[in-house]
Amino acid sequence: MQDLTEGVARFRQDVFPAKAELFAALAGTHRPGTLFISCSDARVVPELITQSEPGDLFVIRTAGNLVPAYGPAPDGVAASVEYAVAVLGVTDVVVCGHSACGAMTALAEGHDLESLAAVADWLRHADASRARTTATGAERVTALVRENVRAQLANLATHPSVARALARHTLTLHGWVYDIPCGTVEELGTVGRAACAA
Ligand SMILES: [Zn+2]
Repeated sequence: MQDLTEGVARFRQDVFPAKAELFAALAGTHRPGTLFISCSDARVVPELITQSEPGDLFVIRTAGNLVPAYGPAPDGVAASVEYAVAVLGVTDVVVCGHSACGAMTALAEGHDLESLAAVADWLRHADASRARTTATGAERVTALVRENVRAQLANLATHPSVARALARHTLTLHGWVYDIPCGTVEELGTVGRAACAA
């Protein structure tokens, strides 16, 4: 925690002054262009890997970058998706998986999650991804990471706000996989506006 406190002090002294104008402008404006959905993994830093400024990305982070399909139960992820698309009017949504994902590894390798009831419940949202992943051995985690990103794009499209924006061609969904040791992003394709324009 001491590191964080020192970090705040460095931010105030070294970083904030150079961006003071930006922060002043952002004080009354919230118009991010992109909804970025990534894993909660500490090694994946959306603003760093996309070199985005404060105010650019509306970020949702969940274990395994999972977005449950739309349903009637209260759902914080669904609320954030709806707010980003219907109120903030983002034009792009990125679902970003990553290498060595703990959630995908647990699923791919069939880890025992009996003592982690909440984790086990949450990872059921990746059941379809797992069912579609045929790779075995060392390739299985990588294949599941990719399959899972594609599945979340499909889940996103079940949310009414997303479906509406896709029908109006005002939104594009992008699937990415970030490689931690290489610092590279693999683009898995798009759904929506850009796909139509291509
Ligand atoms: Zn992860």
